[in-house]
Amino acid sequence: MFSVPQRADAVLEVNLNAVQANFQTVSAMVGPHVRIAAVVKNDAYGLGIVEITRALVAAGCDLFFVGTLQEAVVLRSSKIGAAVAVFYDEFTRLKKYYQSSLIIPVVNNRSELDTISGAGEEQTYFLNVETGFSRSGLTFDEVRKIYLSGTFKRHPPAVVLSHLACSDRVADAMNALQRNRFQAISDLLKPARCSLAASAGIWLGKAFHFDIVRVGSALYGLNNAGIQPNPLQPVVKLQAKILDIRNVSKGEAVGYGATFRTVRNSRIAILGIGYKHGLPRASGNKISVRVAGYLAPLVGRMSMECTAVDVTDVPEAVCVPAVSVELLGENFTPNDLAAAAHAYAPEVLMRLAAGCTRRYLHEPSAPQSVKN
Ligand SMILES: *Cc1c(COP(=O)(O)O)cnc(C)c1O
Repeated sequence: MFSVPQRADAVLEVNLNAVQANFQTVSAMVGPHVRIAAVVKNDAYGLGIVEITRALVAAGCDLFFVGTLQEAVVLRSSKIGAAVAVFYDEFTRLKKYYQSSLIIPVVNNRSELDTISGAGEEQTYFLNVETGFSRSGLTFDEVRKIYLSGTFKRHPPAVVLSHLACSDRVADAMNALQRNRFQAISDLLKPARCSLAASAGIWLGKAFHFDIVRVGSALYGLNNAGIQPNPLQPVVKLQAKILDIRNVSKGEAVGYGATFRTVRNSRIAILGIGYKHGLPRASGNKISVRVAGYLAPLVGRMSMECTAVDVTDVPEAVCVPAVSVELLGENFTPNDLAAAAHAYAPEVLMRLAAGCTRRYLHEPSAPQSVKN
């Protein structure tokens, strides 16, 4: 085997200081009596579980939720000492690994709770309860029955949690319904700490904060509830290089399906980013990129490896092959891209992170150096 240099790839740059600043913003919103648990499942939404977790530990975060046991073990082997809880894994089959690594399971059903109560050793656990999502967790009737049997006295959960279905819509009646159901269940589980809100739930007000908020999206700069003015700092910058520039005569078609035709003699730049990098194919003809600060629209349907941009109005001197153009940054966020492509911002971010080369703007820094 011999190696050759890689083609200039699309780059997703992650600003760890911005993640820390968003942590501080959420802290200020919920106040000193509410603990913030960072949700770093799915490789921290694609941004790198170890890098993100280290940055958040430096910012003062001491509780992390991951999706799977394997992710929890990655944090343990990276010498991250903070508490780690696993949302969705096969606790019963894998329980010995939880015990040996001091990893906290989220118990999602009756049979997992039986595993806890049947275990010889004491196992710290969080209990998920069902309030209107129908995905995971014990119902009120199950909790009441188990409560009456005395099991929770012998094996009390450290935290009781539930998940809101509609927290990105402030006025939705589901929010109050779920909150009331959660209150009723958690009253039976006192003195367990209570956790209901994820990112969007923070903006529903104090009544939804309880003891712990579980925050993923907001830390990564995603404003999924569309809060205005947006208090979150953008975390990612997406850049791709110009591979080629061609002159295209007036009236010619560009790209698959000939969905774009030039209305004048045009200069078309071909960018080294396509849907294989996670750029939503539906954003063709819908968004603009920034070339040295000039806006240039994506034209035509995008290809797997590349995308066409109309750079006719960009001065030729600043628009040549190998120049980097910006697709996401301060002025155009993953939420804007998702809106243009009728997609969901966390999914867009995750796909871009998986398809692009990931870089970090800053190494994790101590909390005092965080800008506010
Ligand atoms: C993913 C997840 C969260 C975090 O959600 P965000 O909206 O990204 O903050 C919180 N709680 C549970 C149970 C989750 O699965």
